[in-house]
Amino acid sequence: MLQLPLDEALIAGEWRRGAGPAADTVDPATGHTLTTVHAVTADEVDEAAERASRAAADPAWRELPAHRRARLLHRVAELIETEAENLSALQTADTGKCRTETLALVHSAAGTFRYTAAALETAEETVTPSRGAYVTMSVYEPVGVVGAITPWNSPIASDAQKIAPALAAGNAVLLKPAEWTPLVALALGRLVSRALAEAGLPAGLLSVLPGAGSVVGDAIVRHPRVGKVTFTGGTATGRTIGRAAAEKIMPVSLELGGKSPTVVFEDADVEQALAGVLFGIFSSSGQSCIAGSRLFVARSRYEEFLGELVARTRKLRIGPGTDPHTQVAPLVHHRHRDAVAAYVDLARSEGARVRCGGAAPEGEEYRDGAYYLPTVLDGLPGSARVCREEIFGPVLVALPFDDEDDLVAQANDSVYGLACGIWTRDHRRAWRFARRVEAGTVWINTYKQFSIATPFGGMKDSGLGREKGRDAIRGYQRQKSLYWGTDDSPLPWAG
Ligand code: NAD
Repeated sequence: MLQLPLDEALIAGEWRRGAGPAADTVDPATGHTLTTVHAVTADEVDEAAERASRAAADPAWRELPAHRRARLLHRVAELIETEAENLSALQTADTGKCRTETLALVHSAAGTFRYTAAALETAEETVTPSRGAYVTMSVYEPVGVVGAITPWNSPIASDAQKIAPALAAGNAVLLKPAEWTPLVALALGRLVSRALAEAGLPAGLLSVLPGAGSVVGDAIVRHPRVGKVTFTGGTATGRTIGRAAAEKIMPVSLELGGKSPTVVFEDADVEQALAGVLFGIFSSSGQSCIAGSRLFVARSRYEEFLGELVARTRKLRIGPGTDPHTQVAPLVHHRHRDAVAAYVDLARSEGARVRCGGAAPEGEEYRDGAYYLPTVLDGLPGSARVCREEIFGPVLVALPFDDEDDLVAQANDSVYGLACGIWTRDHRRAWRFARRVEAGTVWINTYKQFSIATPFGGMKDSGLGREKGRDAIRGYQRQKSLYWGTDDSPLPWAG
């Protein structure tokens, strides 16, 4: 069983209540308080960073061979899997997400630790071609202390995506979860610290530091001991972190927002496209950075496709994440639900057609939860705010397109460049458009599929750097080049 309580932070190897302000964390399906989490202070961030720096430099960790570090990662994976049901239930309570989704996220987190262990054990360093009487090679060393800052939408998966490669690379980690959803990160912290203790490794290699971004997150980013920050969250926050990192000349990776186009060409398999578009926007209640939130449909099929899409949207099952039949669960927080509703009200005031949704569902069972109906809007130009800004909720905006050039212009007319979906039977057209669209990930006749083996990240305001894939570990290391002289001949200035 998971060790409770979850209201304690992991600070410099010690579980205790943070000395900062307390905040309730709430089940968005019911509005009930789950627990009260005490934030850490900037002084406690300092304490954790100093301890992390010593732990990272400790020979017991620094000199640990790759296969032994891999064993630690495998052990974490095993503990996650043993606790899968508990972690899933906890994440559903904290985020509102469906149990099927949170269980998949938990298993994906375990898979991330396992994949990273394998990547670590099979990583190679390069010997570069010689241009003289020497051999050159590149070696990779840990940055020391990594700050990992995560959002509320898929906590355990985004936490694992950062902790696993950062530890594999030989670092210590300061993890800061989002204010609304700290619980699963704290539970994961219990499992990682247990695996560290079992292996006799230094306490302080992982701290889990809940609290406000402007206090705790900011203190992590600016701390002189922190050598790299890996951030997932909104673009505005990413920009603030990027500016602070520039002051320190510190590398950052930024996984930011999106407004991803999903495109239905006239020759698409309509059944497949309907299912893919629905899943692309309304799964996770639209609270997904890669949500296919801008739908482009070939003008010749526009009304027909949209009519069927709206009919199916109306049939989606809305309910709590704990109900196995639920397809659209509540949003993460009542305040977020209100922000989503405000976007739809704005669209309405600008003359949008609300084809379905556009309100909270009616009924006693929805009264206390942060519910919002899946919503389809159209009739607005691409310049409207709802077509340009990330709503991060179950709201789809639909637009017609005339031909490929028109589509490329419309799809790329966005500050974001995270993902794109294409529905067509014409593979040459799919290839052409996939290469012209500005997006870090393109799905062709599928959507929202993920592999830990495939690098992920954004273009433009959607981010900087890539996570996942074999090279993820390298993102947490510094490259050093070595030259080895291979003969006895003197250098030019020898006496
Ligand atoms: P957010 O930017 O408000 O917060 C993300 C994290 O940053 C939180 O832990 C927050 O406390 C912290 N933070 C806030 N201000 C900070 C500061 N000044 N310094 C340091 N840390 C700070 O984002 P959110 O609302 O939690 O999450 C939603 C956003 O995340 C959406 O924009 C979504 O697209 C994005 N997201 C992106 C990806 C991706 O991989 N590209 C994945 C998931 C979510």
